[in-house]
Amino acid sequence: MPGLTEKYTWQKALSDLVTDPRELLELLDLDPGLLDAAKAAARVFPLKVPRGFLARIRKGDPHDPLLLQILPLGAELQETEGFDRDPLGEAAVNPVPGLLHKYHGRVLVTLTGACAVHCRYCFRRYFPYEENNPGSMGWESIFAYIRQNPAISEVILSGGDPLAVNDRLLQRFSDQLSGIPHVIRLRIHTRLPIVLPERITPELLAWLTNVKMKAIVVVHANHPHEISPDVKEGLNLLRFTGVTLLNQTVLLKGVNDSARVLSDLSEALFACGVLPYYLHRLDKVRGAAHFDVPPETANALHAEISRELPGYLVPRLVCEEAGAGSKTVLSTGLYTG
Ligand SMILES: *Cc1c(COP(=O)(O)O)cnc(C)c1O
Ligand code: SF4
Repeated sequence: MPGLTEKYTWQKALSDLVTDPRELLELLDLDPGLLDAAKAAARVFPLKVPRGFLARIRKGDPHDPLLLQILPLGAELQETEGFDRDPLGEAAVNPVPGLLHKYHGRVLVTLTGACAVHCRYCFRRYFPYEENNPGSMGWESIFAYIRQNPAISEVILSGGDPLAVNDRLLQRFSDQLSGIPHVIRLRIHTRLPIVLPERITPELLAWLTNVKMKAIVVVHANHPHEISPDVKEGLNLLRFTGVTLLNQTVLLKGVNDSARVLSDLSEALFACGVLPYYLHRLDKVRGAAHFDVPPETANALHAEISRELPGYLVPRLVCEEAGAGSKTVLSTGLYTG
């Protein structure tokens, strides 16, 4: 944690993540009996979590909704029918390294495979980051692809976490991108403003304020406890750059499969200027079956929050299907029961 005299920069926070299961259990006063399973699951998908995120977890509570998102569990090692390594078939839509072109008019670009946190339900647990991490050397083929496809009007920087790279690199990327006239929007999918709010620096804010395309920042929060005072402050700063701020949530058993929690999350986000965009059903990746919420329950929860909240606070309930040309909307929230 920050020393009194020393500034805790985001780079320091990012190089000081908790990655040792034993340390995690000690810091959170958790049963050492969880250690063997945590170590085994972390060998498949390593533990990674910023210290500031741990500070929002209730000590001694193995069911804490933030803890469940980051603690490696033995359940991840169970094979479950229908839960695979590449549930979205992304290998098939990867025309150049670092670029996914699946949806009309939009491409996903990966600047880095790194994330500040390893979310246990992540569908990228098995994604071949290393082969698919272009580095700035590989950008030329990405820009060439975008230039040759005039239908692409939006570039989405996605994960890894694009804000894990430094501001100079972001600036260089957006400068080159804004030289392509048909690209009018730049979207950034990031969990860093939630898990590592130190990342919201004056330099980042200046970049977002001055970027030549319309900018959209989509953060990723799953539970209202994630919106701590420092996160709130960071989101408000982001808002004042004039970007459109949206949130996506993954519906997770034991974490946010309750109408109360989902409503509170929407309210907490809106209080910092963030609109709920998507509520995703879990991608069926191997090792995440214990987070699965059955479709009937998902629909019922969505109908319930639709009755409680104004329409603009109700995220669209969606799932991704391999090969589909867009996300599949599962429920509009209209209550028909
Ligand atoms: C979600 C997603 C997008 C963006 O979809 P929107 O519906 O525009 O939010 C683009 N490409 C991929 C591969 C995606 O998964
Ligand atoms: S931050 Fe996003 S990409 Fe990274 S592990 Fe979490 S869900 Fe996956």
